Amino acid sequence: MTKHIVVMPGDGIGPEVVAQATQVLRVAAGKAGLPIALSEAIIGGGAYDRTGSPLPEQSLDAARKADAVLLGAVGGPKWDTLAFNLRPERGLLRLRAELDLFANLRPAAIYGDLVDASTLKREVVEGTDLMVIRELTGGIYFGEPRGPVQTAHGAGARNTMVYSEWEVERIMRVGFDIARKRRGRLCSVDKANVLEVSVMWRRIAEQVHKAHPDIVLEHLYVDNAAMQLIRSPRQFDTIVTGNLFGDILSDAAAMLTGSIGMLPSASIGERHALYEPVHGSAPDIAGQDKANPLATILSVGMMFRYTFNLPQVDEAIQAAVTDVLATHRTPDIHAAGKTLVGCREIGELVARRLADAPPIAVPAV
Ligand code: NAD
Repeated sequence: MTKHIVVMPGDGIGPEVVAQATQVLRVAAGKAGLPIALSEAIIGGGAYDRTGSPLPEQSLDAARKADAVLLGAVGGPKWDTLAFNLRPERGLLRLRAELDLFANLRPAAIYGDLVDASTLKREVVEGTDLMVIRELTGGIYFGEPRGPVQTAHGAGARNTMVYSEWEVERIMRVGFDIARKRRGRLCSVDKANVLEVSVMWRRIAEQVHKAHPDIVLEHLYVDNAAMQLIRSPRQFDTIVTGNLFGDILSDAAAMLTGSIGMLPSASIGERHALYEPVHGSAPDIAGQDKANPLATILSVGMMFRYTFNLPQVDEAIQAAVTDVLATHRTPDIHAAGKTLVGCREIGELVARRLADAPPIAVPAV
């Protein structure tokens, strides 16, 4: 039952943060008694330099065969003038498309006393722990027809919001499954007072709910959801929504926590899963040991929870991160009274804290 994980460090700070995350991955797997096999594949600007493609077939093949992919970040000024299709970001977009990763999971949680890094008041954000699930491959970003049009009043442009029932059904199933792995509450966000697509979205949500009676389902209009996220984020557990609304709400939710270096993510499909930090390749600090690797380390936690079904390991990783943050910080989240450390040192501290933690009790399969 060895789990095969393909590691794609990518560009900029990608290799630095991924090195720390794989260290934690090995310690966590060892503690949980989970046999893993890691292999490395190239993607992004570095891959273009070596092969002429930002996603060589060999890398795509390896990702297809893996149980999970762990990715750093891609891109940088060196490749900004390349033709659109050769750009590092296209490699990542293609990887997501080829693996049919239709659900994007973005948790927003406040770790320990990082609460003061948020722009919102402590009493509003303290204890926030929510997940935004965004449908990633449909909706208005892909709907046809699209493009320039002639309107009755001159030149214009249009996009089309369209979802098939099966697309809503499969993202809802992910929503209910994830809610079950969290606190059992799912909030479906739509605009059913205005959009026919949302009326159908809501009907399918109710339909899928029948197969998940243990989960509490509620519906919110997207404008209200945006307000509630800022007014009282603790009320949310798991949110599921379409591509456009999810794009906006996941960024709003992310900012509740205050730091881009702390935000993990997962993109999952029926057969594949990709785990990566939300941030980019941060060329301004690359190679200086200044990057915060915690977003990537927390993405490893998500891998254990959502691909390996071992939430205990995710919890142990989160606990180790919280512990380390109480005393040590990278420059992006540094605060008075905390010891300033680099990427390598904070990664080593988390790995050591995890190694020293009590054994992780994993149920026999
Ligand atoms: P970015 O996320 O790379 O950086 C934005 C700012 O946040 C920078 O000041 C950076 O130093 C800081 N930052 C980011 N991650 C950090 C971390 N882990 N620790 C400490 N500070 C961190 O976004 P950008 O500057 O807009 O983009 C830089 C490059 O990354 C571009 O080429 C862009 O296309 C690419 N990018 C890639 C991804 C991805 O691979 N998923 C996502 C976004 C941007």
